[in-house]
Order: sequence, then C-alpha cells, then structure tokens
Amino acid sequence: MSTIDIVAWFVYLLAAVMFVIGLHFMNSPKSARKGNQISAAGMAIAVIMAFAHLFAAGFISSTAVIVLVAGVAVGAVAGVYSAKKVKMTDMPQLVSVFNTVGGGAAALVALNDILASAKTPDTVVLVTAGLGVLIGSVTFTGSLVAAGKLQGIIPGRPLALPAKNLWNLACAVLAVASVVMLVLRPEQRLLWSVLTALFALLYGLLFVFPIGGADMPVVISVLNACTGTAVAMSGLAIDNVALIIAGALVGAAGVTLSVLMAKAMNRPLSSVLLGGFGDSTSHDDADGPEGSMRETTADDVAVQLAYAQKVIFTPGFGLAQAQAQRELADLGELLKARGIEVLYAIHPVAGRMPGHMNVLLAEANVPYEELVDLDDINPQFPGASISLVVGANDVTNPAARKPGTAVSGMPILDVDKAQNVVVIKRGRGKGYAGIENELYFTPNTQMLFGDAKAELQAIIAAVKELDA
Ligand code: NDP
Repeated sequence: MSTIDIVAWFVYLLAAVMFVIGLHFMNSPKSARKGNQISAAGMAIAVIMAFAHLFAAGFISSTAVIVLVAGVAVGAVAGVYSAKKVKMTDMPQLVSVFNTVGGGAAALVALNDILASAKTPDTVVLVTAGLGVLIGSVTFTGSLVAAGKLQGIIPGRPLALPAKNLWNLACAVLAVASVVMLVLRPEQRLLWSVLTALFALLYGLLFVFPIGGADMPVVISVLNACTGTAVAMSGLAIDNVALIIAGALVGAAGVTLSVLMAKAMNRPLSSVLLGGFGDSTSHDDADGPEGSMRETTADDVAVQLAYAQKVIFTPGFGLAQAQAQRELADLGELLKARGIEVLYAIHPVAGRMPGHMNVLLAEANVPYEELVDLDDINPQFPGASISLVVGANDVTNPAARKPGTAVSGMPILDVDKAQNVVVIKRGRGKGYAGIENELYFTPNTQMLFGDAKAELQAIIAAVKELDA
C-alpha cells in the first residue's frame, strides 16, 4: 500500500464518520439541517480525495481531467439550483430524480468497470459490478416513473397491466440470469452486461407503473434502498471505500424506511417487488359515496372551535401545498389559550414524503408532545369535540376499511369517529389515490371550501373577534 493509498483510506474513514454523525443529527427536525451540512461536508471531502488519489496515482489524462471537472461543475450547478429553486411540496419528486441519477450513475460506473479493462475482470468484480448494473438500472427507470407519478405527469391511479406479475417475474429472472451468465462467461461480458441492464431497466418500468399513488411511499423507500445498494456494489467493484460506506448507509436507511412504510401502509414488502398492490377497479368509482356534502363558513367553524373541549387537527398534503403550517400552529395556540386541549394527528404517509407532517409542524414550532402517532391518536377521536382536517384526504378515507378500493387495508386516522368533523380543502378534488372520500358525505362532517392558508387565517380572525 502506497502512502497516498493510506492517506486516502483515512480520509474516506473521516468522510464515513461524518456521514454517520450527519445521519444521527437527522433523528430530529431541529438538528436535521446541521446533519445535512455535516454529511455534505463529508461527501465533499471524499470527492476531493478521489480526485487527489487519481492524480497522485498518475491514472489521469488531460481529457479525463476536463471530463471530470465538467461533470462535477454540471452536477454541482444542477444540485444547488434545484435545492434552492424547487418548492418544499416538490421535494419528493426531486428526491426521486436524485435517485434516478444516483442509480443510473452507479450502473454506468459498474458497466464501465466490466467493459473497460483489457484483461478479464475477476469473479468478485463481475459479481459486484453485475449487481451494480442490475440494481442501478432498476433504480433508474423505477425512480423516473415514480418522479413522473409524483409530479402528476403519469397518472397516480393504479394501472392495470395485463399479466403484470408474469412480466415482472420474467424480467427479474432474466436480469438475474444475465448476471449469472456474465460471471460464467466473462469472455462475452459485453453481451451479458448489456442484457442485464436492458432487463433491469424494463423491470424498473414494470414494477412502478402499476402501483397506485397511495402505495407510492413504500416504492419510494424501496428505490431509495436500491440506490444505496447499487452505489455500494459499484464501490466494491472499483474498490472505493467511500462509495461502499456511503452506499451501505443509504441502502440500510432505505431498507429500514421501506419496512416502516410497508408496516404503516399494511402492505407486504414482497408484493411491492412483484409489481403493484392496491386494486385498480375502485369500488368508489363504481358506486360513489351516497349523500351530499354540507358546507360551512370560517365564522361558523370559529364558533365551534372556540367552544370545544378537545380539538384534533389532522393535517395532510394540502397543508404542505398551502404552506399553512404556521397558521395551523397559531390557531392551536389561540385555542390552548382558551383552555381547549389541542392535538395533531400524524399519519405516517400524510403528505408526499416520509415524516412530511412532522417536518412541517416542527418548522412552525408546534410542541413535539402535541404530535400524536396514528396508533395513539385513533382511540382519542371519539372524545374529540371537533376534528379539523386540513388538506388531508386519503389518510382519512373510511373506504380503506372495506375491500376493493385503492386504499383498502391501509390504516387510516379515525377522523369520522370524532363528534364533529370540519374539512378544509379547495374543492371536490380527490386524494392522491384518485378516489372519492366517504368522510365528506357523512352527517357529522362539514366542508369548508378554500385554500388552507386563507381559511385558517379567516378562522383565526373570527376566533379573535369572539374575544374582542
Ligand atoms: P392527499 O394527497 O390524499 O389529499 C390532499 C388533499 O388536499 C386533496 O384532496 C386536495 O383537495 C387538498 N388540497 C390540495 N391543495 C390544497 C390547498 N392549497 N388548500 C387546501 N386543501 C388543499 O393527501 P393525504 O396527506 O391525505 O395523503 C397522502 C397521499 O399521498 C397518500 O395516498 C399517500 O400514500 C401518498 N403518498 C405519500 C408519500 C409519503 O411518503 N408521505 C409519498 C408518495 C405518496 P382539493 O384539490 O379539493 O383542494
């Protein structure tokens, strides 16, 4: 081992320690920003060291320097621009696009490692690089479709592809068989690595396309885990410790998140990988909920809230869309000042990213002990005078309790069991799963149509007037 190898090893170790410390800080929304900065600094150190290592080892030509510098410049500008310009509500799509790029890059690095060397790569390189191509390619197309669904370019509803399980299984088996052939027949490595990539790209498309919007949280976390694993495999293939550790951390975090999301959605993880769950033949579309919606006004809601004993706020994606978290927190403070008990019901998949509501409400300084998880808040709804639903739809839909709908089986917030329900939303738009919500048609529900921010401001003003 040369001196530069030893230096590189220690610098990569330092970067790895910074990734772990950064992850630890991300345990809480309060310290998450610092965690991000520490991890980003670790990554910057690792990238600089990789450059220095290449130079010192004399592997680098002037063309390679130009390509590398141009690549880093384009990546850095795109990263900084998107992080600054993309709205909070569009972050999930951005993360999916980053997964696309990460998976694609890992696949290309692994493909290059298989094809570029003059002599036949050894078995360890063929296995790890082959898996890097396979997992990276699945992540590339899968994340691209997921980003399209989150952006609304591709319909969020579950798509019924004929014999989807068979196609998925065939693509998965063929992709794995191609990796096996790559290892057994390294002299034909161009053929087998390209076939691995093609079958894996197809599998990525087929496995995400049929999945409905409501089930996307699990898919997004699985793809996240895939990105990390693909990067770790490429790191093993090119023998880069920083890539191996960074990839393993992302992969492990992604797997943990996938298990948590699958549990939160009450879906077996295996069925995600085999291509789609949920039911595309929505019961609601066939029958539609019966009854009509009862409209109310901000003044009326203010009176109901002001004289309530216990209020449960139920935020959803609409709160994030309207950026109304501060108004909701202000309303909570106003009610608490009147001696009313206020709690926030947090569904694990509310919004568009895992932990979305926790992050939003922490930003608005809502005390952490007022945020109550699904299992703990559900028994409390019958004792609540009012449940104020702010831009939440799928996570409150009682259709989840019966079979045959896109949200069937998903645990929901038992909002409908509160004594009175008020729903703030702009109009009669459906939730992300694309189905009607029976909650809106029940006799104890009133609808306050309008933008969440504007309506909450109107309610706050009306409550204040009651005291004037
Ligand atoms: P939904 O997306 O089901 O519903 C949000 C509702 O908010 C809509 O019905 C919309 O109705 C309303 N809305 C939108 N903008 C505003 C606004 N400015 N003011 C007031 N209301 C507004 O949200 P939920 O949080 O209930 O459910 C999340 C869904 O997203 C689930 O299906 C989940 O599985 C899925 N998902 C979650 C992810 C995660 O990790 N958390 C990731 C990917 C998907 P209207 O248009 O009438 O205003």
